[in-house]
Amino acid sequence: MPYDRKPCPFCGSRRTQDSASHYGFVSIYFVVCRDCHADGPAKDTRSEAIQAWNTRVYSHDGDGHA
Ligand SMILES: [Zn+2]
Repeated sequence: MPYDRKPCPFCGSRRTQDSASHYGFVSIYFVVCRDCHADGPAKDTRSEAIQAWNTRVYSHDGDGHA
């Protein structure tokens, strides 16, 4: 697999998955934890979303600003 997601920073679960939402012609990607339902920062691409998840610090806004 090309992308390697780290365990959830909140609960330590490895049951994470990358997900996407589509708003009209815009798509955003983010990683979610299947155990505690934390979601990572929303990014324009899946690889960016995973990278953001892997490097995230505690923050609740998932609105994508760096
Ligand atoms: Zn979690």
